[in-house]
Amino acid sequence: MCETRGRSWASPGRSLHNRRVARSAPPSQRLEVGPDVAAVLRPEEASRLRDLHDVERVPCAVCGAWIEPGSGPPASVSISLEDDRVTAEFAHGRCSPSRADLARLAVLAQSEPQGIVYAQALHPDVGAVLLWERRLDVRVRGLDGSERPLYLDASWWEGFHGALAGEPVRLLVGWLLERDGEDLLLRHGGQEIERFHDAIERSTPDWLRSVEESGFCLVIVGAGIGLETPRATAIQSAIREHRALMGLAEFDV
Ligand SMILES: [Zn+2]
Repeated sequence: MCETRGRSWASPGRSLHNRRVARSAPPSQRLEVGPDVAAVLRPEEASRLRDLHDVERVPCAVCGAWIEPGSGPPASVSISLEDDRVTAEFAHGRCSPSRADLARLAVLAQSEPQGIVYAQALHPDVGAVLLWERRLDVRVRGLDGSERPLYLDASWWEGFHGALAGEPVRLLVGWLLERDGEDLLLRHGGQEIERFHDAIERSTPDWLRSVEESGFCLVIVGAGIGLETPRATAIQSAIREHRALMGLAEFDV
């Protein structure tokens, strides 16, 4: 019932880290995350950067030399902001302390540097759709030089997938969308992952009827879509360019 048609879609970008490797490597605790950076990043994002630092060599944003993983000299992570591009960058501790221009980032994120923006839509075939993204599209540079959205780590969004050619959207095992007063809550294994403030209030009667009757909602988490003013073309390019992960979540009425 939920086919995504007519596009050839590859798998999403590789996860930021290999979970098994991260688990077997001793945590370094030697990556400094300053208070301003911690105010911008969610805890799971900061820990993803720690994992990355633990297992991969990353270039120093200041001197350009490698920062060796694990037990090398202390390193720091900073948030840079250039022409609205937000990037998490590593540096040797001696090259730069951990810093972020919190005032400018807060303006860019409309005072919610850790917040999300979401949109609800009704698709003729799929039914109710819920899309969201981080207000701040924080990118991190991978070993291949490409920048990946930090929030879209595939190991965090377990079971979510990029668009599949000629295959229906997959059911997200262990994920549940539920009502909490006027909010919608997305849970994974009982843990609250994302809260959509006032989503019930903002739903159209048709949207609400669709999730209640089908018991499912197509959920799409993206990056850099511009959901403040959602446009179908922006959503389609995000999906095509692997800046979106999706799945079918069960809805608990
Ligand atoms: Zn350096």
